[in-house]
Amino acid sequence: MAPRVLLVKPPEASRFNFGTFSLAVLAAAVRDIAEVEILDATRLGLAEAAQRIAERTPRWVGITTMALSSLPPAAELVRRLRGAVPDAHLVVGGHGATMLPRIPLEAGAHTVVLGEGEITFRRLLQDERSTDLAGLARLSGGELLQGPAAPQVAPLDALNTPAHDLVPEPEDGVHLLETSRGCPHDCSFCETTRFHGRRWRYHTPARVAAEVRHLVRDLGAWIIEITDDNFAASRRRVLEITRLLRREDLPVFFMLSARADDLLAHPGLLPAMAGARMLRISVGVESLDPGLAVRAGKSLAVGDYARLFGRMRELGMFSVASYIVGLPGETARARRKAVELAVAAGSDAAQFLPLYPFPGLPLPAGNDSYDPDPAAAADAERFTREFYAHPAVIARLTRAASGGGVRALLAGGTLAKHPPPTCSA
Ligand code: SF4
Repeated sequence: MAPRVLLVKPPEASRFNFGTFSLAVLAAAVRDIAEVEILDATRLGLAEAAQRIAERTPRWVGITTMALSSLPPAAELVRRLRGAVPDAHLVVGGHGATMLPRIPLEAGAHTVVLGEGEITFRRLLQDERSTDLAGLARLSGGELLQGPAAPQVAPLDALNTPAHDLVPEPEDGVHLLETSRGCPHDCSFCETTRFHGRRWRYHTPARVAAEVRHLVRDLGAWIIEITDDNFAASRRRVLEITRLLRREDLPVFFMLSARADDLLAHPGLLPAMAGARMLRISVGVESLDPGLAVRAGKSLAVGDYARLFGRMRELGMFSVASYIVGLPGETARARRKAVELAVAAGSDAAQFLPLYPFPGLPLPAGNDSYDPDPAAAADAERFTREFYAHPAVIARLTRAASGGGVRALLAGGTLAKHPPPTCSA
């Protein structure tokens, strides 16, 4: 009889639904050898999550951790499950557990899957007693046993279509689509390349077009968010994808993330993307201080970004820039000028985030945990507020909101979320 497997996104503050999506991808890789269910416990309390898991009497429970911040709630859930489902094999995977496997193991997990899970988890289900530790971590008498890296799925088209039928319809109408994994670049603060290595793997354009067709025609997707870290890593692939998509029923728009110099590498790229309704693009700028940017691995200047965001505006696209506060080596002067330079770069929207340290990154002086530096976190929040209160940004968003199309829709939504300050005089 096929083993009962329950894949769980644990209760946590993060409302990201990338976690249940990655579980749907994992489920598709093992559902031919197991009876798989997915539980999105994000909004449940720990006791209710444990009870719902126990009711399903799973033989295996797989818990995903999207980041280091997912580890405390995942560990707490594991502690409860040791009593609630004493016969189940508890497995924890994902980015957080891969970085610090000891935390879920000390909480009582039997196994941590390191790196991507499709091959390793399948092997584990097929042979629970195997002593081959490739891609796994376990505790033995308090000692951490960690195997070598497991093979990665290649080519990526070997993956089955995600098990959309096992996860609830997205409440916000935003369906997720993975078209590639990893990134060929090597930014110093980036956790993606630590997780996947600097090996960029991708679905072929034909597979991407087929998945979009399924999402739009069969599942009624009207917004599709591409989960890739850098969708534009290969301009040839993007051009072919957009050529194929223009023959398909398209969603209202796609949202995606891409690196600025990849977007600027070919003059035909942005128009092709706009033609395929790729209309909301997030760009990781990180820093506009020249020295800091080069050290981080992003060396474009303010003028380059202004050219990129200006071209996107002309094409009806909406740009979102993200910046990191507290990069190693950041000076007080660089931090003071961050908002002014972000306004000059000219993206429609911007978010400032504190540096999220992780194992392997040099920690800022005085910081001995993997939590963001509180001063950087406070500044990041303030800088985001200051960006949206700036007259140039308000004018840009107001102009966009009074125009038409998706750009107007997104600009209006941004103004509603960050209303301009009112004059109290
Ligand atoms: S471009 Fe983005 S995904 Fe690629 S290494 Fe840099 S930060 Fe990571």
